[in-house]
Amino acid sequence: MKKGKVYLIGAGPGDPGLFTIRGKEVLERADTVIYDRLIGSEILGYSNPQAEFIYVGKASSNHALSQDEINALLVKKAGEGKIVARLKGGDPFVFGRGGEEALFVREHGFDFEIVPGVTSAISVPAYAGIPVTHRDANSGFAVITGHEKPGKRTSSINWEKLSGIGTLVFLMGVENLEHIVENLLQAGSQPETPAALIRRGTFPDQQVVTGTLKDIVSLVRQADMQPPAILVVGETV
Ligand code: SAH
Repeated sequence: MKKGKVYLIGAGPGDPGLFTIRGKEVLERADTVIYDRLIGSEILGYSNPQAEFIYVGKASSNHALSQDEINALLVKKAGEGKIVARLKGGDPFVFGRGGEEALFVREHGFDFEIVPGVTSAISVPAYAGIPVTHRDANSGFAVITGHEKPGKRTSSINWEKLSGIGTLVFLMGVENLEHIVENLLQAGSQPETPAALIRRGTFPDQQVVTGTLKDIVSLVRQADMQPPAILVVGETV
């Protein structure tokens, strides 16, 4: 194994109090910090001030760096013998492309380590008072991407199966909200099913809109909710 090392670190959903102690330890000794959008200055502030900081954040369709460029950057910095902290929102393996980055680093002969983070899929609903499971309401939950790979011709989401699962948590779903709700209703979900959209969860300016599948689209539109937001559908709302 070559000398540099890449740590894929989950930074949590936003509130710095939800960053892990392990994440902080690694940040303190990293030479290079490569970070995404939504990583607050408080968390970045745990880094060694001498470290090199590289922003690679992306907003839905407009990427500061492509995924290939990010992969190449990780390997380049590891090749310089650096301890690289790759900071990602939430947990690196939940729609974070952490798996792709880890494989790429490994294929190029460098070591990597995962520092799991508090995923927004569970913590953002929690900060809005919504448990993803509750004994009286459901026996499971699913986390789904609301933003399938652009260019996909048919949906890889099995909407019929989904409508049988207790709580559904959609990430990256604001732009596709109408499409998601339509698919759920067509697949047999009841229009009265409670639903909530939570924007910038765990941040001081968190916004929550609550309704049902019948009216959530118009309520969200009225409130002019923009990403990042999470849609939760189910009785626990
Ligand atoms: N790896 C991340 C998810 C990356 S996908 C995790 O485990 O949380 C990015 C999506 O996560 C956003 O589009 C949004 O749906 C959700 N998200 C992340 N942070 C959020 C926050 N503070 N509030 C609301 N949604 C958030």
